Amino acid sequence: MINIMFIAPPAAGKGTQSDLVTSKYNIPHISTGDILRDISKEDSELGSYVLETLSSGGLVKDEITYKLIENRLKKADCKNGYVIDGFPRTLDQAIEYDKILEKLNYSIGKVFLIEISKDVLEKRVTGRRICENCKAIYNINNEESKPLVESVCDLCGGRLYQRKDDNIEAFNNRYGSYISKTEPIIKYYENKKVLYKIDGNKPIEKVFKQIDDIISEVDS
Ligand code: AMP
Repeated sequence: MINIMFIAPPAAGKGTQSDLVTSKYNIPHISTGDILRDISKEDSELGSYVLETLSSGGLVKDEITYKLIENRLKKADCKNGYVIDGFPRTLDQAIEYDKILEKLNYSIGKVFLIEISKDVLEKRVTGRRICENCKAIYNINNEESKPLVESVCDLCGGRLYQRKDDNIEAFNNRYGSYISKTEPIIKYYENKKVLYKIDGNKPIEKVFKQIDDIISEVDS
């Protein structure tokens, strides 16, 4: 079982790295952000609550998030491992995650902390575009990761969109929330000796190599 967790500030590239790990190891990518974005499109009380919370950059209530995570991890495609991305975001969530793992008889696996400077993140946030069809990620502020044709996905021709929370105001809110709420969980996983620090300022493939070397080293 290859269980991988990413901890990273918003726009640090954890979505991209998660995709690289999931394709190489053929395991599902479980992103609480993606699950919540899907729910935010539903025409229901829950859908409107989630939409409002996501647009403001705040965190969705724990009891909702826990139920979504447990239900997702129970599915058969997680039995050989998975990448969990966006959860846990707080110490409370990390403690609850341990309980969920125990209930499902899963191990914590490896936790990767992507370290990156705030200046780099601000540039990425304003340029990030996502394919509404295949969810491929682009950055219009970076020559290497720009789409070939403006607003069109290179891979599937889908339309590219900008996330509602990819603006400076919501970014500052999410970054502040990340620092204050996520730092304690870094200590938590450091103490458990499952935390690996990754330099996220490097190009995508170099960041992936650092991660992949650790996955293969520990699993061999
Ligand atoms: P992300 O795609 O991981 O940046 O998440 C986008 C948004 O989804 C966040 O700003 C939160 O509003 C919400 N969200 C994602 N994961 C969690 C979580 N573990 N707990 C609460 N809210 C979350």
